Amino acid sequence: MKKKLRPAVIISVCVAVVAAALTIFLLLNPQYTFAAGEYLGINCKKADVIKTAPDSLRPVSLDELKGDARVRFDQSLMLVNKEHPLPDGFSPELAEYRDTGVMMNACMTEAYATLSAAVSEKTGERLLVSSDYRTYEQQKEEYDASPTLATVPGASEHQTGLALDVYVPYYASYGFLKSEAGRFVDSECWKYGFIIRYPVYGEAETGIAFEPWHIRCVGEPHANIIYNNRLTLEGYISSLEIGAWYEFGGYLISRQEPGDDDSLQLPEEYGTAVISPDNMGGYIITVKP
Ligand SMILES: [Zn+2]
Repeated sequence: MKKKLRPAVIISVCVAVVAAALTIFLLLNPQYTFAAGEYLGINCKKADVIKTAPDSLRPVSLDELKGDARVRFDQSLMLVNKEHPLPDGFSPELAEYRDTGVMMNACMTEAYATLSAAVSEKTGERLLVSSDYRTYEQQKEEYDASPTLATVPGASEHQTGLALDVYVPYYASYGFLKSEAGRFVDSECWKYGFIIRYPVYGEAETGIAFEPWHIRCVGEPHANIIYNNRLTLEGYISSLEIGAWYEFGGYLISRQEPGDDDSLQLPEEYGTAVISPDNMGGYIITVKP
């Protein structure tokens, strides 16, 4: 006589089969578990940014700062999006990356070289660039060709040279995260001064869905704060109160709007400073005491 299987046994077998299939699927597609981990911030270690008041501050004119050997002006913290497009006539400070024909903002060639070397060393893969600096006209062409996917001309970070779309052979776009290099770039690029500009958790603030391939240079220590506190660039910059000072990782940070005399407040004594416009009428000052 045929023995009838009990419903509990049938259910257990079905659950085991589904669990095994899911495990195999996730092992073959590590990008899903990785993206879920990034969404939850499992690789993040909270960055405690402390509000501070430097001992003595003095107003220094932008002209004087531009002539000060301790100060470097760059464009690393410009916020560029649909609400804050680039001003007419904006010209990025560009440099060619190691005779490759890849054009990027001059402030990030060293940082990119270090990131690229780390990718090779840690994963054995070669990081390549599929899209670098774009002129207004090139962005317009992209937009005209696919208005639903491309950003409107003037609002693309690629026009600043600060953003790169990266990949490794056989793994590009969303598939980038299938590669070890892609997962390394997404979870470690902050150590080299880069952020994933459109993070998996950021669409409500950036207006752009997750782009694991689009890296953006913001420099240190900002990349550290943004990644580890699960921020977007929009969220980070708006968290910096105009005129306030913050301390993090041995740096002092302040976002300021120049006064009527075109001056910014800086500590009396300091080692070096990097000053970048924020593309909203202000500047972000990063001081190394
Ligand atoms: Zn891009």
